Amino acid sequence: MLKSLYVHIPFCRKKCEYCNFYSVPYDEQLAQEYCDCIAKEIRLLKTEFSTVYLGGGTPSVLSIKQLQRVFNAIKPGLSTDTEFSIECNPESLTQDKADLFFSYGVNRVTLGAQSFDDNFIQKLGRIHSIDDTFRAISFLKQSGFSNIGIDLIFGIYGQFFDDVIKDVSVACTLGVQHISAYILSYEENTPLCFKMQRKEVQPISDAEVADMYQSVVAVLAKSDYLRYEVSNFAINGYESKHNLNYWDNGEYVGIGAGAVGYLNGIRSNNIADVPAYIARSCAGESVISEFESLSDVDRAKETAAFKIRTAVGISFKWFFDVTGFDFMELENGVIESFAEQGFIEYYPDNDGIKLTDKGFLFADSVSMEML
Ligand code: SF4
Repeated sequence: MLKSLYVHIPFCRKKCEYCNFYSVPYDEQLAQEYCDCIAKEIRLLKTEFSTVYLGGGTPSVLSIKQLQRVFNAIKPGLSTDTEFSIECNPESLTQDKADLFFSYGVNRVTLGAQSFDDNFIQKLGRIHSIDDTFRAISFLKQSGFSNIGIDLIFGIYGQFFDDVIKDVSVACTLGVQHISAYILSYEENTPLCFKMQRKEVQPISDAEVADMYQSVVAVLAKSDYLRYEVSNFAINGYESKHNLNYWDNGEYVGIGAGAVGYLNGIRSNNIADVPAYIARSCAGESVISEFESLSDVDRAKETAAFKIRTAVGISFKWFFDVTGFDFMELENGVIESFAEQGFIEYYPDNDGIKLTDKGFLFADSVSMEML
């Protein structure tokens, strides 16, 4: 069976204020050794991939030589149908890198634009400007890419409703195929969270953020970017296959420091420490630091919790086919209450459920209750 592959590139030029992903400052020598290790591990997989996703961290911070090392390992696993995505930051994408991606069969690039207002980009602690973003998009188009995604963050402290609408409207004019729009969250132990605790920043109220979200959805829909998951919008046919696999609770291989894998009902976390990862990998030792073996019921409940976040929702037949469980027997307790509160609705033939527009505002709570 074809596999989904996630490769973590844990290097960034500078840590953003709100970020809790595993990453370390980019160091050329360390990155070179790291790329050698992950290239070796990818080669050992000896399989064809349905999707490949290079995420981070900042994959585009790697040098051309380092990128070639990783791409050469991935190449034998690509077929004409493989969705091959890479995350880029606007300041580190060059024309040469965009050309290299294209020549190696990358067919989907997402850019961490976050905002089209330099003031808000700086508040997030990011190092690019909106000019970098516009330039990066033109590099990608020049290289021949026809599947480009933009990531946005909204609900940034100090942002008004009109600022958010402006950001989304600009994104819609860029001729990209996919837009992700995430609400800023104050993750524990991040500089942004500490600022909030010291009362140096004032988060926007939940009610205002909910209003912003509904307007974001409406503005995007007018430009044919349809919501297919809580925070993800695409022109029809450009939904991320890699991420859809996550929301189906499908299996995937995770390569790299801090990467997660999910195979045969076992979720594994790779050690989130680049030097230790390299040392273990070179010594031929396992790079996995933790395992979680899920029971059949836990797997089924997780599947419900992920899938409910999608616009299509949960078809009871699909659920039975992939988990072996009757959805309503498994989740009966919570579903009726969500239906009464107007968070979910049944399919016309009562053979499935999905979130309502109101339910999308409470998707995290609905999802958590299903676990
Ligand atoms: S570039 Fe991305 S991964 Fe790196 S610190 Fe910023 S948000 Fe985190």
